[in-house]
Amino acid sequence: MTRVAIVGGGLAGFVTYLTLIHGGIDPEEITVLAPDSDPAAAWRRRAAAIRQTHMRSESDGHCLPTSFPGLAVRDARRRRTLTPLLRSICDRYHPTVIDFLDHVEELRGRSGWSARVRSARVERVRALADGFELDGHGVFRHVLLATGHPGNVVPEELRDDPRTVHAYEPHDYAKSVCVVGAGLAAATEWVNALSTGSTVISVRRREPARRPLNVPRPYLTRRGLTAFHRLPDERRVATLRELLAPSYPPGREWDEPIARAAAEGRFRVEAAVNGADQVICATGFLRGYRHDPLLRRLVDEHDLATAGDRWIVLDTDSSVPALTNESRTIALAGVSAQWAYPAADTLMGARYAAHAFLRRCRTR
Ligand SMILES: Cc1cc2nc3c(=O)[nH]c(=O)nc-3n(C[C@H](O)[C@H](O)[C@H](O)COP(=O)(O)OP(=O)(O)OC[C@H]3O[C@@H](n4cnc5c(N)ncnc54)[C@H](O)[C@@H]3O)c2cc1C
Repeated sequence: MTRVAIVGGGLAGFVTYLTLIHGGIDPEEITVLAPDSDPAAAWRRRAAAIRQTHMRSESDGHCLPTSFPGLAVRDARRRRTLTPLLRSICDRYHPTVIDFLDHVEELRGRSGWSARVRSARVERVRALADGFELDGHGVFRHVLLATGHPGNVVPEELRDDPRTVHAYEPHDYAKSVCVVGAGLAAATEWVNALSTGSTVISVRRREPARRPLNVPRPYLTRRGLTAFHRLPDERRVATLRELLAPSYPPGREWDEPIARAAAEGRFRVEAAVNGADQVICATGFLRGYRHDPLLRRLVDEHDLATAGDRWIVLDTDSSVPALTNESRTIALAGVSAQWAYPAADTLMGARYAAHAFLRRCRTR
């Protein structure tokens, strides 16, 4: 029987697997339970739908267990130029999506990942004295749940509208396009649609923040994180709501085409969806553990503490306090781990949860 289980084989599960073997856990001790053995499957579909060409994250947005050397170093070696490193020092290096996906594929091949994946969707986690039972797959001492986003969100009033498509579903652009939302996916869609000659109407509830990463940099530092962890629950909920509001990076690549199109009368902001030919919902994902059947059941059956009707309350190491003790661990990674790390739904966030999980697997 293997000792460690990772439920969910997306990027967060993959980063965890790589971190565990780098930290000395025998791959034979790890079972990954996931419906798909390609760790980039979900990510690739979404990035392709919005025609993303570059990563939002910087050099350290990769799947390796340590931040350095990141993708800038790899790029510099391959192209025999220092440019990626210089750009990286100024936080201006963003790998291409193609390079990132090649990197995932290369790691997948050489890490033995595919051999550890058992094709399964786990429906229930049951706590036992010495571990956790996962459906009929056995009992595991240490379990990491990395089940990703539970689905796309489409505003109710648009669900039955035949013009509607979600930004993360494959689509082309009609002559006039209404884009609902104001985060990175929306900004990407404004520029995509404008570049095909469409007229774009941006519908947004609030003005998006402009920042390079999806949370402000201080929250990625030990100091910022310590301050976040000290916040009482109510303030932590309010902080998370604020931090996770829509944002996209500053930069000419967004501002120039939009300003040009606005001057030509092809881009404007409106308060509500109008008579456009197509409505693209860049409205992201369903939010909160209740939308994920596995997490909802885990909370309900074990009476776990939650906050803000959305977050499972976690320890600073992403483990679930009521179910984790000296001999067993259950921890979360990816979006569901925001209580421990606001940028949990990023590659850096996956690394944070993975290292904390490794510490527990190694010492128990
Ligand atoms: C378009 C886009 C661009 C992004 N760009 C960046 C970027 O530049 N830099 C960055 O750091 N981050 C980026 N992110 C954010 C982040 O890296 C992704 O959200 C990442 O895919 C999260 O990985 P995950 O494993 O949590 O979720 P996913 O990749 O969605 O994987 C979850 C997996 O769990 C499986 N699963 C679900 N339920 C169960 C179950 N009950 N049993 C077994 N398996 C289950 C699913 O089938 C899926 O395979 C981006 C996200 C998107 C959408």
